[in-house]
Amino acid sequence: MDPQVSEAEAVLVENDRIRAVGTLQELACLAPDAERYSLKGQCLLPGFVEAHIHVWKVGNLQTHTLDLRGTTSIPDLQERLRAFAAERPDATWVQARGFNEAAMLERRMPTRKDLDAAVPDRPVLVQRTCAHILVLNSLALEHAHITAQTPTPAGGEICLGPDGNPNGVLTETAQGLGFRAAPVFSEADYVTMVSAATETLLAHGFTTATDPGVMPDLLAVYRKMEMEKRLKMRFNVMPIRLPDGGTTALPLPDRSSSDFLTINTVKFFADGGLSGKTSAVSRPYRGTMNEFGVLRLPPDFFYELAHEPHEKGWKIATHAIGDVAIEGILSTYERLYRETPSPARHRIEHLGLPNSDHLKRVAAAGIAVVPQPMFLRELGGNFRQYLDDAFLAQCYPMRSMLEAGITVAFSSDAPVVKGIHPLENLHAAYFRRDLAGGVITPEESVSVMEGLYACTMGGAIANSMEDQIGSITPGKFADFVILESSPLAVDPERLLEIKIKETWVGGKRVFLA
Ligand SMILES: [Zn+2]
Repeated sequence: MDPQVSEAEAVLVENDRIRAVGTLQELACLAPDAERYSLKGQCLLPGFVEAHIHVWKVGNLQTHTLDLRGTTSIPDLQERLRAFAAERPDATWVQARGFNEAAMLERRMPTRKDLDAAVPDRPVLVQRTCAHILVLNSLALEHAHITAQTPTPAGGEICLGPDGNPNGVLTETAQGLGFRAAPVFSEADYVTMVSAATETLLAHGFTTATDPGVMPDLLAVYRKMEMEKRLKMRFNVMPIRLPDGGTTALPLPDRSSSDFLTINTVKFFADGGLSGKTSAVSRPYRGTMNEFGVLRLPPDFFYELAHEPHEKGWKIATHAIGDVAIEGILSTYERLYRETPSPARHRIEHLGLPNSDHLKRVAAAGIAVVPQPMFLRELGGNFRQYLDDAFLAQCYPMRSMLEAGITVAFSSDAPVVKGIHPLENLHAAYFRRDLAGGVITPEESVSVMEGLYACTMGGAIANSMEDQIGSITPGKFADFVILESSPLAVDPERLLEIKIKETWVGGKRVFLA
């Protein structure tokens, strides 16, 4: 990934940094006594950078919350909830995440009645896979004091059933009403979650991960883990600016940057997700008359919340998927840069439905974008169901992003999707094929080499960490992944067969297959 030396025979590591790159003979002259380690024909790449993954939530699904991904029907969902509740008689609430109604037999949202039938005697909270829709059972609604009279928070919905009472479904910012009533996680819970997710990430060759949108309690846990030297990989943690269900911004925390923990970016949500029809779009979703999604942050409100961090030198990362959300965020970024020039490189997370004018403007403003090829693979069926042909033609146009000259960083956004494997992401970016075999706009295919760049240097640049990570360059951290063979040497269809053998962070091996 280094334009100076794109391929080399040997790397010399000193302490936690790369000292030199070249032939074995050259490096042996520099450091005749160095310990040697032969790759035996395997392939060494810079450690992968996961530019947007909800680290603690990935860990949460391995430890505290039922994983509902792959649920096939409402009875299947009920059975999973019942079994999970029975296994945990001491849990005061039953929490689950990951269903996708478009992939379920009934093709409808579960409601409080469906959840009551599974677990009637404890509050139940179930989040859709996109994390933009929440369903509560009757007891949870009661604990959250949500009734037909509860005012709807701005940028969210409390959905009502045919009887005029809340049916349990809360979207976007209204989810905060449900989460506020649920038990809070302790510091020890969060440490367990971050640690569990770290092991998963390291096993997939990631050496840096960005956790977008964390609340102050989790931010404090990351800082403490960093101080106690318990972080085994590098994290870029983005504090959330506006909590779900809140109308006032959280105070800006201290900006800081150390070898293992970077805090330099605040996170916003401008809209919802495409797979659940909550991204803010300019034409109604296919099959509906008047569903345009949910715009959580109108431009004026966004400006009001964003100008302080911008003026203070923070980077800003905003979730924007629908074309209406993208327009609002982009025009506000342009205004901020115009009024107060700043070297901070802002980001747009996802950038699902940009038009060609948006791409030109994103490039001109020097904004980095973080799309998820894996969405096409796991959620492409939803996209094909909910988007009209013109939207499908501009859906995650990753080739057009690159051709416009934009910095593109790949990520999975897990646990929104199940797959976090970087090579699965490259495969998805190349083929743009969903699990049912449907292909979305094949002209937007990204080559394996471009994809590798997007999940190494792309992520480094999006994080403003390009001087430290992302390529095998003297002076940078000795963060590597060792693959059984080169992803460039195989038919892209066979990318997933390549095994990840080792992961190294700062010159130390932290994963061995
Ligand atoms: Zn996300």
